[in-house]
Amino acid sequence: MKIIDGKAVSEELKNSMKQDVLEYKQKFERVPHLAAILVGDNPASKAYVSNKVKSCDQVGFKSSVITLPEDISEDDLISEIEKLNADKDIDGFIVQLPLPKHISEVRVTLAIDHKKDVDGFHPINFGRMAQGLPCYLPATPYGITMLLDRYNIETAGKHVVVVGRSNIVGTPISILLSRKSKIGDATVTLTHSKTKNLHYIVQQADIVIAAIGIPGFVTADMIKDGAVVIDVGINRVEDDQLTSGSKLVGDVDYEGVSKKSSFITPVPGGVGPMTVMGLIMNTFKAAQKTIYS
Ligand code: NAD
Repeated sequence: MKIIDGKAVSEELKNSMKQDVLEYKQKFERVPHLAAILVGDNPASKAYVSNKVKSCDQVGFKSSVITLPEDISEDDLISEIEKLNADKDIDGFIVQLPLPKHISEVRVTLAIDHKKDVDGFHPINFGRMAQGLPCYLPATPYGITMLLDRYNIETAGKHVVVVGRSNIVGTPISILLSRKSKIGDATVTLTHSKTKNLHYIVQQADIVIAAIGIPGFVTADMIKDGAVVIDVGINRVEDDQLTSGSKLVGDVDYEGVSKKSSFITPVPGGVGPMTVMGLIMNTFKAAQKTIYS
């Protein structure tokens, strides 16, 4: 069994991005600029945003965080988004999810200028992705394809089973892997909470992608010998043995599944760092106007 080391791959990619940013700076006398809107004080969201800021610092990007109160109205949040849409110094920005219950994530996503939508959530980017047109790929699926590529994991003709159909992970990764492309050409089964015989379906998979949000959901008995297992889940669970009282685990029972898989991503240190890398790559494309002029 080989561990797919997302942390190491992301460090390699950051080092090469650093060079690209230096060249960009020489040519344009500025650096790429990513902004993030953070609403409220959800500790996980704060941690994700500070990670993104840290990665921007590492590669030489400028970053800005706009922190807004939990009780901000939907209209006021949209006004903030419109300011970022109009700000010529900002190449791309994200609105950290989840948002407070009184705010519609759909309205917020639609308000972001698709040319600055470096999370790749806007329907224009999503639709372009589905048709194989240039676009900002959603950051996590983008990160997963980079990992599969880096570890030379063949996807053509393979049976991929994706568990979970969210708009940000499960659905887009199943579209990407079924498309005609280098990391693609797979036969994909997208499963979800209403899927019957889930165990049996996952057992048929050459590659399993778990994005459910339930700790240890995918167990060893569901995995075919030699399967590749990509664990997207990030779940905080209690652990009395640790001074912090808790730890992060994935959606896969790593202990059992790693004994049967050929490749597996750990949590933390697998898909997570590559999601941030996907965002960095998209922001660089936005700064270079590679996709939209
Ligand atoms: P979500 O929470 O929006 O949806 C969960 C999906 O799981 C749904 O499609 C649902 O149908 C499916 N599901 C729920 N119960 C199921 C069951 N019993 N059997 C089969 N399917 C079931 O999903 P999300 O936003 O994609 O998040 C999933 C996990 O991935 C979470 O732990 C989240 O924290 C993590 N995540 C990690 C990253 C990263 O960078 N590593 C990025 C995004 C999300």
